[in-house]
Amino acid sequence: MDYQLLKTDLAKPLLNFDLNEEIFSFVSNDNSDKVTVSKPSLPPIEEFIPLVKQIWESGQITNNGNFHKKFENVVGEYLNNKNVSLVANGTLALLLALKALDIKGEVITTPYSFVATSHVLSWNGLTPVFCDINPSTLNICSDKIEALITKNTTAILATHVYGRPCDLEKIELIAKKYNLKVIYDAAHAFGVKINNKSLLNYGDVSAVSFHGTKVFTTFEGGAVVANNKDIKLKIDMYKNFAFKNENTVVDVGINAKMNEFQAALGLLQFKYFDKYINRRKKLYNYYLSKLKYVSGIDLKFIPKNIVYNYSYLPIFINEKKFGKSRDDLYDHLKFHNILARKYFYPLITDFPSYKNSKNSNHKNIPNALKTSRSVLCLPLHTSLSTKIIDKIIYLIKNI
Ligand SMILES: *Cc1c(COP(=O)(O)O)cnc(C)c1O
Repeated sequence: MDYQLLKTDLAKPLLNFDLNEEIFSFVSNDNSDKVTVSKPSLPPIEEFIPLVKQIWESGQITNNGNFHKKFENVVGEYLNNKNVSLVANGTLALLLALKALDIKGEVITTPYSFVATSHVLSWNGLTPVFCDINPSTLNICSDKIEALITKNTTAILATHVYGRPCDLEKIELIAKKYNLKVIYDAAHAFGVKINNKSLLNYGDVSAVSFHGTKVFTTFEGGAVVANNKDIKLKIDMYKNFAFKNENTVVDVGINAKMNEFQAALGLLQFKYFDKYINRRKKLYNYYLSKLKYVSGIDLKFIPKNIVYNYSYLPIFINEKKFGKSRDDLYDHLKFHNILARKYFYPLITDFPSYKNSKNSNHKNIPNALKTSRSVLCLPLHTSLSTKIIDKIIYLIKNI
């Protein structure tokens, strides 16, 4: 989502988890004192180097090598789902999901997401139909989906925005009634559980991203999580040019393979993932404890039945009450080297490629529009300190 954030100084991993603020405190790299909205959580480099040596010695750097096999199994165990396919990034995960499910025609989707959610539809020759969001969940409004279904509709592509679950039950009911497939853009949702089950196990297919801005990173990377073996086998075939065997190509495929370096990092990340989430949780709750007293700033609370991954900290500016606009606050923070981000602004439907798409007119998506104009995501990552958060809160209160 934020490609400027990958300038991590690998020589200085900051992750030491004895919750000592000095150790965790923000250490500047060549960006000096800028605080970015996210920053990759990486294990100590000393633990990664031996894995790189193993790859060197094995001579296999990609194409379902040892680390790939192991990591795919471990992800499967973690999600309690054997039908996982690792891929090169989250966008290709979505692209492959649509291909493997043989989606055609129109797909109902959300304008309040990262632009990749719609790009994968257009790139596959599909027609996005934009549905408004629910202002409290920020996800596609399940009550507004049915009115958009036509004889050409074949699927719903919805995003679990900030890792908060869509209305799973209602969407499943609609899908059954109209014989539609359900694909979840679960880019933000790794580590989220609902009713004690991974959120990635809902819908026909979920696509997750392991990009550097996400809670779990493999540099670039992602996975397709399917609800049956046939889809997994199709994904595995399509991600490798649609080779069925050495001499047979059965369809138009693509190259979406995850390499051994990505997979090795992924394996190592599991050792630290709980610690990353705990660290995020602590910082998230620290923010909330301070922000809840600031008038004009609305927060969205985490649903009770989920185990959350604390992936983002969105705040919503009520301009009248706060006295300043969202953009005023963004500029003010930026001036003081706090690089908050407007996720998601503009709406996907405001980009030229989607301006004239079905149902993209602002009057049809009022909740998405209002949310997009008031949201600001504050910095949240494992190398943030409470000291920096105090500074951010001070800046917000004293704008
Ligand atoms: C990050 C992201 C993607 C794309 O994932 P990549 O791994 O960067 O390709 C797709 N959808 C959403 C909602 C995202 O945040």
